[in-house]
Amino acid sequence: MPLSATAFTLLVVDDERQNRLLLTELFDGQYRIIQAKNGVQALEKARQHQPDLILLDVLMPEMDGMAVLHELKRDGSTRHIPVIFVTALDSAADEEKGLDLGAVDYISKPFHPPIVRARVRNHLQLVHQRRLLEQLAALDGLTGIPNRRQFDTALEREWRRCRRNAQPLSLIIADVDFFKKYNDTLGHASGDRVLQEVAATLRQGVRRPADLVARYGGEEFVLLLPETCAANAQLLARNLLNLLQQKALPHPASDVGPHITLSMGGVTAIPAGDAPDPEFFQRADAALYAAKAQGRNRVCWSA
Ligand code: GH3
Ligand code: MG
Ligand code: MG
Repeated sequence: MPLSATAFTLLVVDDERQNRLLLTELFDGQYRIIQAKNGVQALEKARQHQPDLILLDVLMPEMDGMAVLHELKRDGSTRHIPVIFVTALDSAADEEKGLDLGAVDYISKPFHPPIVRARVRNHLQLVHQRRLLEQLAALDGLTGIPNRRQFDTALEREWRRCRRNAQPLSLIIADVDFFKKYNDTLGHASGDRVLQEVAATLRQGVRRPADLVARYGGEEFVLLLPETCAANAQLLARNLLNLLQQKALPHPASDVGPHITLSMGGVTAIPAGDAPDPEFFQRADAALYAAKAQGRNRVCWSA
């Protein structure tokens, strides 16, 4: 597992300078270390730096470690960060209380350095594995591009962002033409490769970092284009059709022509309301239906 230096950030919270130094030295060169000397500072730095793990002293004046942990868990931006209590308290009742509050581990002072290192390493390993899983869960297994789940999340986010900035949001749904016939003629494995090629082509044709290309399901793809007006989104859609045309992927059973083609339906709106309006997606879908009805291999836009 790549646990290289500076790959992880640790927040060390202790009111005693000596203890902070001790813990910092323990991990020096291995992880990036940030220090906080009281509870308020700990909360600030946790929010600001988003550390991967927090080593939290329990006994501190004013705001103790239990209170800090409570606040960390209340805040959506810090809730996910694992916390290890490092404390002179070593009664079972204290340990139980800390774990109940949501600490992942409990280390008693005076600590044995190799054990602290090992425990921190184990928890960071869990962090790393959880991130990998989260990444995998957001990607489509066949094409490697974002899946529908990630699209749904992005739509919610970009809907609100465009609403805040009173900017247009555009959506394109793209569907492979006569794909059933393709599978029936050349087989499912070839069909899978076509979907990979189409995904790569769409991704290649989309340039702005905020633009999202996702596989919505089956042979349907979606493109979410924040701060993009209808004219520019339509231009992009036509460019994508051209790009695919240039790839000239053979489709011997298509009624459109000799190559793989897409039909696209698009919609543009300046978002209103907190959550995406279902009508937004439906309008793009209706435009896609129109593109199919008008002969495929074309772009239709919702009026
Ligand atoms: P249209 O031009 O109207 O879109 O016709 P179509 O044949 O493309 O549409 P239809 O919805 O009838 O068929 C979609 C096909 O896509 C059927 C299904 O087997 C195929 N398909 C869906 N997902 C996959 C996949 O992951 N791999 C492969 N190879 N085929 C898939
Ligand atoms: Mg289709
Ligand atoms: Mg379809």
